[in-house]
This record gives sequence, C-alpha cells and structure tokens, in this order.
Amino acid sequence: MANLKKEGIIFDIQSLSFHDGPGTRTLVFLKGCPLKCLWCANPEGQRRETEIRYYLTKCKGCLECEKACNSKALAFNNSGISIDKSKCSECKERSCVEACYNEALTVVGKIATVKDVMKSIKRDIPYYRGEGGVTLSGGDPTYQPEFAIEILKACKEEYINTAIESAMLTSMEIVKEFIAYTDLFLIDIKHMDPNKHRELTGVTNEMILENIKIIAQHRPVIVRIPIIPGFNDDKENMLETARFCFKNNISRINILPYHKLGQAKYNQLGLEYKMPEISAPENREMEHIKQLIESEGVICVI
Ligand code: SF4
Ligand code: SF4
Repeated sequence: MANLKKEGIIFDIQSLSFHDGPGTRTLVFLKGCPLKCLWCANPEGQRRETEIRYYLTKCKGCLECEKACNSKALAFNNSGISIDKSKCSECKERSCVEACYNEALTVVGKIATVKDVMKSIKRDIPYYRGEGGVTLSGGDPTYQPEFAIEILKACKEEYINTAIESAMLTSMEIVKEFIAYTDLFLIDIKHMDPNKHRELTGVTNEMILENIKIIAQHRPVIVRIPIIPGFNDDKENMLETARFCFKNNISRINILPYHKLGQAKYNQLGLEYKMPEISAPENREMEHIKQLIESEGVICVI
C-alpha cells in the first residue's frame, strides 16, 4: 500500500498535458534536480527547498517587504527589490512574502503529501480514457525518490498509467524501485561524452547511461535530447546517441530545440543565467539531425 502521508515538495501540477507521455496527462513537478544544465528552462525546479520569486512588473515599490524582514536581507534599487541571499535566513514565516499585498513576492514550492497530490490527480481521471495518466517531472523526480515512488505506487493502485521525465542520475537500488511502478521512462541524454556532459550539466554521464541500459531491459524508454547549437548538436554526438539507443533496444528519440523561454525566471529567482548567447536551432537543422538519427535505425520525433 502506498504511504499517502509521505511528504515532499512540489512546485506545480498541470492538468490536460498532451506532450509528456501517451494520451492526456497530469504533470506533477517535484522540486530539486541533481543536474545544473546551463540552459535549464525550469530553474525554479533546481533547488529542493522552497524559494522566493520576485515579479518586478507587479512591484509598487511600497517597501513593506523590506520593513517586514528582520534579517535586513532586502534592498530596493534600480531593478526593484533584491534579496541578499547571504543575509536571508529563509525564515519559516516568509515575512516578506506575507507583507507584499501585490503578490510581487511569491514562494515557489510547497510541501504536499501523496494524498494531496492524488486528490489533484483523481480529478483528472475522466480525461485519461485508458491511454493517459500521470507524468512526474521537475526538477527531477529522482531527487525526492521516496516521495516520487509513493506517488507512482498510489497511481498504480488506482490503475493509472505512469511515466517519469528524468535524467535517471541515481543509485541502482532506486532505479529498481522506479522500474516497479513506472510504465514509461522519458530520459534525457544531454551528451554522450562524459567530460562534455559535465561541462554542460555539472555531472558526468556514466551512471545515467548505465541506468538507461538496465531500465530499457524492463520498461519502454524514450530518450530525449535537448538540441543546443554548438554544444551537443554535432554529427558525431547525434550518431553516437542513436547507436547507443539502437544497441539497447530503445526505438525512439525525441529531439527538443533549445529555447530561451525560461531566461526571465533567473532574474526573478536572483540567479545568474550562465548560458552564452546562442540562437535556437533552425527547422532545417532539426530535420538534418532527425535524418542522422534515423539513419541508425531509431525513430526520431521533433
Ligand atoms: S524569507 Fe525571511 S529572511 Fe528571507 S528575505 Fe524574506 S523575510 Fe527576510
Ligand atoms: S512589498 Fe511587494 S510591492 Fe512592495 S516593494 Fe516589496 S515586493 Fe514590491
């Protein structure tokens, strides 16, 4: 039986998604990720802890937040409110957020139980129509493994199809638990070369690739490659990824073009966007990569 009282931290639940697994799906976003991809479009998912997000456009400059902070961590300057993270004690009350009547300051992430998450999921069951289900995303669901596994377990008890979006950088013991309760794995491979993988994400890829080999022996896997021009889109890397998939009976790769949609969030979270200025790949480049991958016998979807 799933432990419905198990707590974790989520930062969103989205209903009626059509992109992250078969059919109509509910996406549950868990906070925390072991990778730090330079281009990450969901930086609010990287830290496991809750954090404060600031919307300059909503700020009226009333300075109520500054007055409310006992740690004197807030200051108002040309770009609005800034939080000195070395002074912010991440107080439990989040007094600055409470003081802001304009909702310019919000908390990203909240503690939820498996029961809370299942309540949202159950509202969507009529839309699944057999094929759809639940996809755990993030962040990376493997960063809160006990919580993620209890959600998946609770879904299986309701006969709900389950999928996870992950890099699967985790121990074999945890991988086995995910295999037991997950119907489909959507796994990112950012680069086949361990050193380049570390440059782009902060970690090497050996454990990821070993885990994929094991998972593919038990469950369907779709590999996903974010196409980052000049970083991982070279012919050699694409062919090597396709060959790895073919060898491990993974029949499908999804390629996802780089975009900058998450860039504004970095400012809002007080983070630095470290990705150098590059353009999104053109359609013809995506088509060319698709052909390369398919030349190795693997279906490629853009
Ligand atoms: S979270 Fe608490 S300590 Fe941090 S800035 Fe807000 S009020 Fe100050
Ligand atoms: S309380 Fe809200 S609106 Fe007022 S200065 Fe702070 S962030 Fe801006």
